[in-house]
Order: sequence, then structure tokens, then C-alpha cells
Amino acid sequence: MPASIGIALSTRVKRAADLLRAALRATLDLALPTLCPACREPVEGRGLCPACWSKLSFITRPYCERLGIPFVYDPGPGILSMEAIADPAAYRRARAAVRFDDISRALVHALKYGDRLDLAPMMGRWIGHAGRELLAEADALVPVPLHWRRLWARRFNQSAMLAAAISAESGVPIAAGALKRVKPTVQQVGLSRSERALNVQGAFRVPAESKAAVAGRRLVLVDDVLTSGATVDGCARALLRAGAANVDVLIFARVADPMRTSI
Ligand SMILES: [Zn+2]
Repeated sequence: MPASIGIALSTRVKRAADLLRAALRATLDLALPTLCPACREPVEGRGLCPACWSKLSFITRPYCERLGIPFVYDPGPGILSMEAIADPAAYRRARAAVRFDDISRALVHALKYGDRLDLAPMMGRWIGHAGRELLAEADALVPVPLHWRRLWARRFNQSAMLAAAISAESGVPIAAGALKRVKPTVQQVGLSRSERALNVQGAFRVPAESKAAVAGRRLVLVDDVLTSGATVDGCARALLRAGAANVDVLIFARVADPMRTSI
């Protein structure tokens, strides 16, 4: 069996398993209360309990118009952050729904490791709201890919789940398979800024069969968390090398002070 058919089959099997799990969860939800993904208290409906919801830190203007880093005071129109000037990114603009903190970390972990796929539509809605200006000019969404080995272990890609939710809300299609992670990178957690950049160097590639879906297109990368921006920068470089017209970035949660905070 050719490898590509094997991969397509395994993807289909995984999708079927995800659907089955979602259906099972929906059935269980009728009998069991859902838990708040942050504090584990029972909640009515889905998502966060009112206390955790009130602590969630949405990012609104004023922020750096390039990187979306929130400003503590309004420096006036068109002023960019220190980060955008000192270390210009390959991507054009980035927007994030919320600051990365205890609450948003709990949501990301619940989606990623806790089988709470039901959180994706809500998180995608918030990202779509934060990125509506970027989505209005976008041809397609590109989820940050996992290496196939990690995808195999985790069974689904959380960025693809978020991209699907954003697509459903905005109508912007997903360019599936536009980008591949060809190098199994180590987890970025605990690495310094320069180590992160080195870790993702050469990690992403646009496969030959996807070049037509990328060339000349205005693309929006989707990921769950942004810390140093090294991962999305690596992705944007690969897409631009393949001829993308421009690349923007949409993130669920961003570290508001990437120089000092680590996850
Ligand atoms: Zn809670």
C-alpha cells in the first residue's frame, strides 16, 4: 500500500474515532454535568463557569498593529511594539483572542490533552472575533501542522480543530495539507528564544502537490498558543518561499510579554 494512501486511511480512521467520541460525549452530557475546564466545578451548558469566565483576559485595542501585543497605554495610531521593530516577523500581522494565563492555559490543555473537543467552537469564535479584519482579507486558513508521529500519539491536531471552528464561523476555507512538519521538533517549553528559533528551522515545508494552493494566496496561519512566535514564523517563511502573497497569524492565546514569560 503506498504511504499516501496509508496516511489518508489513518486520517479517516482518526476522524471517525473523533466523531464517535464526540457522539459518545454528547450522549454522556445528557446524564452528567459538564465540568468547567479551568476549575473543574460543574457548569450548565459548556465552556467556563461564570467565575473563570470573568477572569479571562480578552485582548482588545490598543495593541501593536503588527503583532497584536497589547499596550498598557495608548501610544497613538500606527505605533508598533518594541518586539515588532527589533525582531521583524516573516508574517504580516498577528492577532490573539486572549492573554496566556492560568484560565486560557486550562482551556488549551483541556482541548489538547483532555478530549474536550467540544471547546473548539467557542475558542474558534473568540479567535474569529479577534481576527475579523484579517479574515476579511483571507483566501484560506492554514493550521500549524503537527509532525505525523505526534499526530499519531495525540490522534488530532488542536490547531486544525480551531481552524475548522474559525472556518465554520467565517466561511474562509481551510487549505488542508498546505504545510507539513517535516522535522520532529522537540517541545518548545523550557527553550530560550534562540533555541526555539533553531528548533523550528527547516521544520516546515509546502509539499509539491500543495504549491498551487499556496502560490499567490493570502493565508492565515492558525495555532493555539504563541510564545516567542518562532513556530508561526517558521511556518510563514515556508509559505512565503512557496509563493504565498502574504501570511497573517491567528492565535487563541498569546504570552503578552514574550521576553520574560515562559510556559
Ligand atoms: Zn471555573
